Amino acid sequence: MAVESTLPTPVRTPASDKDAKALQFIEEMTKNVDSVQERVLREILGRNAETEYLKRFSLNGATDRETFKSRIPVVTYEDIQPEIQRIANGDKSPIFSVHPISEFLTSSGTSAGERKLMPTIHEELDRRQLLYSLLMPVMNLYVPGLDKGKGLYFLFVKAETKTPGGLLARPVLTSYYNSDHFKTRPYDPFNVYTSPNEAILCVDSFQSMYAQMLCGLIMRDEVLRVGAVFASGLLRAIHFLQNNWKQLAHDIATGTLNPKITDAPVRECMRKILKPNPELAQLVTMECYEENWECIIKRIWPRTKYLDVIVTGAMAQYIPTLEYYSGGLPMACTMYASSECYFGLNLNPMCKPSEVTYTIMPNMAYFEFLPHGSSTSCLVDLADVEVGKEYELILTTYAGLCRYRVGDILRVTGFHNAAPQFRFIRRKNVLLSIESDKTDEAELQNAIENASLLLKEFNTSIVEYTSYADTKQIPGHYVIYWELLVKDLAIAPTDDVLNRCCLQMEESLNSVYRQSRVADNSIGPLEIRVVENGTFEELMDYAISRGASINQYKVPRCVSFTPIMELLNSRVVSKHFSPDLPHWTPERRR
Ligand code: AMP
Repeated sequence: MAVESTLPTPVRTPASDKDAKALQFIEEMTKNVDSVQERVLREILGRNAETEYLKRFSLNGATDRETFKSRIPVVTYEDIQPEIQRIANGDKSPIFSVHPISEFLTSSGTSAGERKLMPTIHEELDRRQLLYSLLMPVMNLYVPGLDKGKGLYFLFVKAETKTPGGLLARPVLTSYYNSDHFKTRPYDPFNVYTSPNEAILCVDSFQSMYAQMLCGLIMRDEVLRVGAVFASGLLRAIHFLQNNWKQLAHDIATGTLNPKITDAPVRECMRKILKPNPELAQLVTMECYEENWECIIKRIWPRTKYLDVIVTGAMAQYIPTLEYYSGGLPMACTMYASSECYFGLNLNPMCKPSEVTYTIMPNMAYFEFLPHGSSTSCLVDLADVEVGKEYELILTTYAGLCRYRVGDILRVTGFHNAAPQFRFIRRKNVLLSIESDKTDEAELQNAIENASLLLKEFNTSIVEYTSYADTKQIPGHYVIYWELLVKDLAIAPTDDVLNRCCLQMEESLNSVYRQSRVADNSIGPLEIRVVENGTFEELMDYAISRGASINQYKVPRCVSFTPIMELLNSRVVSKHFSPDLPHWTPERRR
């Protein structure tokens, strides 16, 4: 289905005075990028002049860019981990920030297998809120009438933990949804959700999803947009509907709530929303019972004007599946954000996914850009990046991160006023990703090594391997191709041993992967496909036939190119799946 044909043309008048103010703010920020950035850096360095970190580099109270750039090093998470650990252990002295660290935000990026801990301060919530407040005013320019209905958004919180020093550690969205900024947000007709706060804030992912889906079905006539943060989350919701529509229809028909929903606040709020509605139950049944899921979003929620989900970066792999389920509804990627900082927004949210660009808002933090492949001495300011070039994003935040490498690679595509617009290209070092998990080459190698230990007693070793993120089914799963050297056929590893190798690999992967497997059920069991001997040599022959140099050829550790997939799949001799869930608890291993 042609996505372009369904794109509305912008109406281009603010929908309200409030919207006009927000749009005016965007104009001011994007016209004055450089002066805003100068002010932001001055504010950050001025207030944090007495911190241990800035004093260590003898900034001596300077707040200008030149001194800052000449004295403060560009760092990675690992560089500042000792300080982060001190804060986590309870050191309340001003290490990075004079404002007290209010909590840690746990990034989906990992370090030594655990989520990175990003210190944050209370006022950062205001900055995040400010960026959120700009999204609907922009959207209202393109899609009129969003005040005439509701948004069906599948939003979730995750488990929280405390650091040894007593600070909360939780993902940024869990922090935001639990904040008064979200919970007691004033009524805004353009931003009404079908999901009650109680359902969003329920930590049990099944109960939360069930209640949110039930509300979405009950309020189907009002739904004007359907979304989740990432495409993978929306697909999980569709999958949930596929698996649970009978029980959901039963609840709607009878006006009684599934007994599996035991969370008291959720039960109480659903009691007020759920009334017997046999007609609606019949409609849900009619749409679902044939198990034909094409266009299901449009069929169940016929007034939906667009999907609100991020389909850029690693999420682009889900576009065809979402098109199938939605019947080609436009997909709006509205913002670009991270645990470290919320960066910016898409000023043309109804554009095609392949054309999405994000405009970084200069008031959010001080941004620098490392030209891709250059040394850290050549950083460029936000106002000075050049169209067509790729950069790594470097951040200095109010919470005290200084010249911190986020790991995202962005390409400049143009400008809005003086503000550059960026296409998200990729995250550095990510090999495999199904949803928020990010597995790099070293982690995969380590997992392979750990699994290979199980093969030792069978006199078998792994000759070569590669991997693939299989997202054709929901939930997606990791596929690892192995070529084995079985030295003694009489004691070749059995199916059971190879299944255990799958689990051993999962046990070795990072905590975000294991959490997705265990708590969220958003990644399926890892699969090992054993291929015939000689397959990887064929792979090399193929690469060389396409122009790769024999001397420099390296086995790709992740594949997705169709001819290569076909070659590998045609050589598979056996398939094995993880027989169990890996270990995961909210507690950190270290
Ligand atoms: P986290 O810190 O776990 O919230 O992850 C933040 C990372 O998610 C960013 O640094 C990006 O790599 C990725 N990300 C966030 N927003 C987008 C987006 N709109 N498009 C592509 N990737 C994104």
